[in-house]
Amino acid sequence: MRLENKVVIITGAGSGIGKETALLFAKEGAKVVVADMNETAGEETVAQIKTNGEGFFFKLNVSNREQAKQMVKITLEKYGKIDVLINNAGIVQDAFLSKMTEEQWDKVIDVNLKGVFNCSQAVVEVMMNQGSGVIINTSSIVGLNGNVGQVNYAATKAGLIGMTKTLAKELGKRGIRVNAVAPGFIATPMTSNVPEKILEMMKEKTPLRRLGEPKDIANAYLYLASDEANFVNGAVLSVDGGLII
Ligand code: NAP
Repeated sequence: MRLENKVVIITGAGSGIGKETALLFAKEGAKVVVADMNETAGEETVAQIKTNGEGFFFKLNVSNREQAKQMVKITLEKYGKIDVLINNAGIVQDAFLSKMTEEQWDKVIDVNLKGVFNCSQAVVEVMMNQGSGVIINTSSIVGLNGNVGQVNYAATKAGLIGMTKTLAKELGKRGIRVNAVAPGFIATPMTSNVPEKILEMMKEKTPLRRLGEPKDIANAYLYLASDEANFVNGAVLSVDGGLII
C-alpha cells in the first residue's frame, strides 16, 4: 500500500474528484478526513470508505478560518498527526466580465483562493513541528491558459500556482512539499451542465480524444502524496490528456 498509516485531509471529498481520491487513498492505507460543506455527500463518502478503510467526516466550509482550525484540532485528537492536505474544494460562478457580479467574484475568491490559504495555514504549524508534510493544491488548465466566462475562476486557479510555488520555497526546508495539479476537463458534477456540443469539442481538441475521469486526477494526487514523489516540490502537474500543449 502506498499510503499506509498516512493521515490525509481532503477538502471537497463529498463529490467528484475529491470523493474518488478519498476512496483511492483509503484503499492505499490512508486514514482519510473527508472535509466538505455537503454533509450528506461527505457522510456517503465516509460510509464507502468504512467498508474496508478508516476515515471520518468533518463539515467544513473552507472559507471559514475557525472551521479549518477546528478540523485540524479534531484530526490531531483522533489520529495524532497530519501527513497530507489536499486543497481540492473549488467552485465556479461563471459570467463574462461585463456581467459578473461582485458576489460572483467574491464567492469564487473566498472558496478557491482564501479557502486554500485558510486550510494550509491551519495545518502548517503541525507539519512544521513534525518536520514533514505534503500539501497539494488543485489548480486547473484554466489557471494556465485562461477561459472565456471564467475571469474569477481563472484568477483563483492561476493564483494557486503562485501560492504553490511560494509555499514550496518557504516550506521545503521544513520538510514540507507543496505541489499543484492542473486538471483538464474532468467528468464530475462540476462539468455536468456543460452542453454536449462543448464536451465533444473538448474531446476533439484533446490529443487523447477523451474527457478525464476523476480517477485520472486521484492517481496524480496519489503520486504527489506518496513517498515516490519525495523530490517533487513546487511542480504544477498537468493532467489533461494533452489539451493545452
Ligand atoms: P465537484 O464535483 O463540484 O465537487 C466539489 C465538492 O466541494 C462538492 O462536494 C462541494 O459541495 C464541495 N464544496 C464546495 N464549496 C465548498 C466549500 N466552501 N467548502 C468545502 N467544500 C466545498 O467538483 P470537482 O469537479 O470534483 O472539482 C474538484 C476540484 O477540481 C475543484 O477545485 C475544481 O476547481 C478542480 N477542477 C475541476 C475540473 C473539472 O473539469 N471537473 C477541472 C479543473 C479543475 P457542494 O456539492 O455542496 O457544492
